[in-house]
Amino acid sequence: MGKIVGIDLGTTFSAIAELDDLGNPEVLSDPENNNRITRSAVYIGRDKAIVGDKAVDAAVTNKKNTILEVKSQMENEVVWSTKEGGWIEKEGKKDIKGYVPSQISSIILSKLKDYTSGVKKAVVTVPAMFAEAARSATLDAAKLAKLDVELINEPTAAVLHYANLPGASVNGRVLIFDLGGGTFDITIANVKGKKVDVITSVGDKHLGGRRFDEEIINILDKKYKKAKSKGLDNPLKDEKLFTIAERIKKILSNKDKATEIIEGPKGPHKIDVSRKEFEDSIDTYIEKIKMLMEEALERADCKANNISQTLLVGGCTRMPVISQVITKIMKKAPVKGVNVDEAVACGAAIYAGLQNKDSLNTAQRKAISNVELNDVCNFYMGTLALTIDQERNMAVQYNDTVIPRDTKLPCSITKTYTVVSDGQKAIDCSVTQSEGEEKDVEFVNLISNEPLELSKNAKAGDPIEVTYSYDSSGKMHCIFEDKKSKKKHEINLKPIGSKDFKELKDNLDFEIE
Ligand code: AMP
Repeated sequence: MGKIVGIDLGTTFSAIAELDDLGNPEVLSDPENNNRITRSAVYIGRDKAIVGDKAVDAAVTNKKNTILEVKSQMENEVVWSTKEGGWIEKEGKKDIKGYVPSQISSIILSKLKDYTSGVKKAVVTVPAMFAEAARSATLDAAKLAKLDVELINEPTAAVLHYANLPGASVNGRVLIFDLGGGTFDITIANVKGKKVDVITSVGDKHLGGRRFDEEIINILDKKYKKAKSKGLDNPLKDEKLFTIAERIKKILSNKDKATEIIEGPKGPHKIDVSRKEFEDSIDTYIEKIKMLMEEALERADCKANNISQTLLVGGCTRMPVISQVITKIMKKAPVKGVNVDEAVACGAAIYAGLQNKDSLNTAQRKAISNVELNDVCNFYMGTLALTIDQERNMAVQYNDTVIPRDTKLPCSITKTYTVVSDGQKAIDCSVTQSEGEEKDVEFVNLISNEPLELSKNAKAGDPIEVTYSYDSSGKMHCIFEDKKSKKKHEINLKPIGSKDFKELKDNLDFEIE
């Protein structure tokens, strides 16, 4: 029987964990350098792909072949072109040579999988607010890496880890604050012993440490320009500067000032960055964080004093300003003590055990015997329907919610619509996704739109049944059924226009280092 693992496939760093013989999650290290977290960076060579720090080093000299932050592209129809050295939108263009996000992610997963042997099944984590297309692309990536995978939301995995700590004192209604390298999620959940019931999640897919690094680079650029009368060359495209900025950010988590020598077009220059300067520069992000905390409380229909603990996850929660903001809003300091870089992978390993109990030994099964997890759907999932505007006597399209946000998983909801006119040939099986409840078609994301032919003698009023279901791991299935002809159309959500699996496999014959 193959091994089962949990994988935190992060924007900037990734980690893999498994349950040890006693059922405790254990992070696996890269056997080459003993690192417990691996940079989610990929260098693509002629017949070799390199993952990790070495790939970041390669980005300095060979930018075009090095892909960073692939996770932020998972929902997009883009191709990394090594000729152009960037992401190219596929829309309308045929056969662009390169790699789609799921292929790049599969290289990272293959690397992590090799930290141990015999891995067959995995739970891979995704941001709570990851769109369906991005989830689907992540599943493709896992399949390409020859992994049988289920997904779990990152903050959900983290709370599972917190709830399972030996002698854990996490109890009641908790807020999980997850600020990583590329994404920010807040989840509110009820924890009772080892039972976790998620209530709601909110987040921002583009808020994280990398944005903070950009702000530090802007400070360095301004200071360099002031001293040397010339700014740095294309600073936000310079990976060496990102490495320096990240170092400064980390130093500023412990000290009031960081100093670095910056190489620029007018020679080297020594630059100081104070914590105050850094915090001022990320002020708009901090405001967004505060707003999302308020939104999470509102969605969970509770006040700060109803939250027993705020649990930290993600490397950027080490920044002092984050603890200050949390303490101000929640009127209590956050809980410290777990390794914020590893909590998500550890929670994923626990969930992997829970979903594959047959693969566990007696001690492991006992360790997780009381663990229970109930998650929710993080978006409004709907379909486009027609209604008659009586005044104008014409059909107008509107978005109708099928599964509301925060519905408990697993779930299956069926709604019945009707054929609009006699002799209608087909209907559009459209699937929409939105963060808020929306009627206006302009404000929803159309994630699938495929036709279903109706029977020849279709009549106005014939019923069309639409069933949306989520399994407990958050995977969605949609069925549109013409009840008269019993014809069904089933939708597998994929990024619109994405390649089929066989094609994905074709240009991925790499040795991975
Ligand atoms: P994660 O996605 O959870 O692995 O978090 C990675 C992010 O955390 C990166 O942007 C890191 O630069 C950032 N990070 C890690 N350690 C620290 C620290 N001590 N202070 C500030 N940011 C940090």
